[in-house]
Amino acid sequence: MIISVASGKGGTGKTLVAVNLALTLSDVYRVQLLDCDVEEPNAHIFLHLATNRSEAVVIPVPRVDETKCTYCGRCAEVCVYNAIAVLKGKVLVFPELCHGCGACSYLCPESAISEEGREIGVVETGDSGNMEFIQGRLAIGEPMAPPIIREVKKHIDRVGEVIIDVPPGTSCPVVEAVKNSDFCLLVTEPTPFGLNDLSLAVELVRKLQIPCGVIINRSGVGDEKVEQYCQEQGIPILLKIPLDRNIATLYSKGIPLIAGMPEWRRVFVTLFQNIKQINSASQVVK
Ligand code: SF4
Ligand code: SF4
Repeated sequence: MIISVASGKGGTGKTLVAVNLALTLSDVYRVQLLDCDVEEPNAHIFLHLATNRSEAVVIPVPRVDETKCTYCGRCAEVCVYNAIAVLKGKVLVFPELCHGCGACSYLCPESAISEEGREIGVVETGDSGNMEFIQGRLAIGEPMAPPIIREVKKHIDRVGEVIIDVPPGTSCPVVEAVKNSDFCLLVTEPTPFGLNDLSLAVELVRKLQIPCGVIINRSGVGDEKVEQYCQEQGIPILLKIPLDRNIATLYSKGIPLIAGMPEWRRVFVTLFQNIKQINSASQVVK
């Protein structure tokens, strides 16, 4: 089963949930934990396991042979990302805008465009016991997370349980990380900002037709509006994590919640059982 852990905004505690759920399940199952928050992967901080393999992620970008080019402008017309421009007697390529789709080289009438690889980040893997950990890391200054996330997700083997730590927000990297999940946990806070971002995230997972449930972190700090919203929308609240000094201290020290407060292990077991139940019920409805 693939469970993605997302949130409409950063700092809500999705990594806390993803790491502790993965660690709890790894007592019994084989688990893959994928850190797809590739701009700032931090699940590794809590795992204390060394990543021992690293693969570069490379995308193909165009290289123009101006001895063949007639400056017809076709490549610039087909590039929806404005990554290539044709001026009088000059073709300019902007590699950081290029998505490596290959349309320009395919459609160049003079076969003047070849492709060369450009490294945009790495995928690192490591394992310990029942847990395989895979994280993507976008190179500094690179804008395109989706190709790295795709490479991370290629490691999914579906032999055991898969937990995905999704980037924050609701943009393309989130769609890339969440799509094809069996279930999406949405982590939020009981505040007006939390509610706003949660409603956007709900809209997104519904478009992707993925069943979801909500986790309210720092429960007790704000108001009841997130709970009212979930009730109105028929979205189950699967867990409330209180605002607790001990939890915050463990997090700040990079200690998993279930290691510092072992009673939480049972809570994450129940969470997983509830997810499985909702998921089976949604399969029946389909
Ligand atoms: S499509 Fe080919 S020939 Fe035309 S401007 Fe681009 S590189 Fe040159
Ligand atoms: S490979 Fe695609 S994105 Fe890159 S310059 Fe060519 S058409 Fe544009």
